Amino acid sequence: METPKAVNHLGIAVRSIEEVRPFYENVLKAKFEGIEEVAEQKVRVAFFRVGDVKLELLEPTTPESTIAKFIEKKGEGLHHVAYEVKDIQARLDELKAEGVKLIDETPRMGAHHMKVAFLHPKSSAGILTELCEPAH
Ligand code: ZN
Repeated sequence: METPKAVNHLGIAVRSIEEVRPFYENVLKAKFEGIEEVAEQKVRVAFFRVGDVKLELLEPTTPESTIAKFIEKKGEGLHHVAYEVKDIQARLDELKAEGVKLIDETPRMGAHHMKVAFLHPKSSAGILTELCEPAH
């Protein structure tokens, strides 16, 4: 089994990117890298960079978005930690064989055309854990 290459990004659930953006951009001075809508996940995503780690501010675009449900239940805050891996499908197969509970047994398309998959928070001490494989 391979060690993840890096923490790729932190996903942070917010009600409004516009409201939170000044904190990251002007107070923390994180580098703003744009906004992208990910229709499949019903979110708008604002990207900031701090060194090699990205911050993704996730704003729900509909009340049915899993991010909307997360905010309703837990409030705004850290939503997931994403680890970068080389071969996401191989990694998911290994985890499944080890009995790790997965939300996605096959990757879906995330922002920046990355393949992403989530592990179940029950398998990861309450923090939603994402694996991602950047587009080559
Ligand atoms: Zn993510």
